[in-house]
Amino acid sequence: MPITVTALPCLSDNYTWLLRAPDGRLAICDPGEAGPVIAAVDAAGGTLDLILLTHHHGDHVAGVPDLVARYGSKVMGAKADAHRLPPLDVIVEPGQTVDVLGVPAEVLASDGHTRGHIAFHFPECAILLCGDTLFSLGCGRLLEGTAAEMFDSLQLLAALPAETLVCCGHEYTESNARFAVTVEPGNTALRSRADEVTALRAEGKPTVPTTIGQELATNPFLRAKDVETLARIRTAKDNFR
Ligand code: ZN
Ligand code: FE
Repeated sequence: MPITVTALPCLSDNYTWLLRAPDGRLAICDPGEAGPVIAAVDAAGGTLDLILLTHHHGDHVAGVPDLVARYGSKVMGAKADAHRLPPLDVIVEPGQTVDVLGVPAEVLASDGHTRGHIAFHFPECAILLCGDTLFSLGCGRLLEGTAAEMFDSLQLLAALPAETLVCCGHEYTESNARFAVTVEPGNTALRSRADEVTALRAEGKPTVPTTIGQELATNPFLRAKDVETLARIRTAKDNFR
């Protein structure tokens, strides 16, 4: 694996993802705050070359100004979201393949949670940075986009190789599991994942990254066969407890 990925917990339940190249160069995705990133970059003894942004929400971008001031990092984000993102040095669009720390990253359209949301897929490293599109056992709320847009976004992710590490923006897995088992009570893979998640959280451990394969077996939102099903369970989740 040419680059490695680590979860940096930040804010109450966000993850910033730290990418490290073999030559020591670092990149991050979605810094909701600067402090945990500074601690990790300084501990790694490196410098922060690049900041990737999936969408404009404050819990994914608020750390950018302090990090750019400290490290002079370049900032990469979507053209369609650029008007509400921090200033971008590299403006990308879905369908493009870009260089991140010397490896190719595919920019994927990920509308649904917001319009202009993107995901980054590293085919050579089996890494997916998907912001608030796909969560373990869940998906992002439809704040701007439609269920049809989210369905298309999830289908794109479902087609990635099963071993792909899913690096999502939040630790929502435990509450997602409580809902998911009501949608698929007979899914034994989901049952055992829910038990695993309970155990991990009881120890204060992250439940992510997950994998595309694991989510295909357990995540009702990724498993939804059509837009209507996705829309129905998304609404049900919004009103769950
Ligand atoms: Zn968001
Ligand atoms: Fe978020």
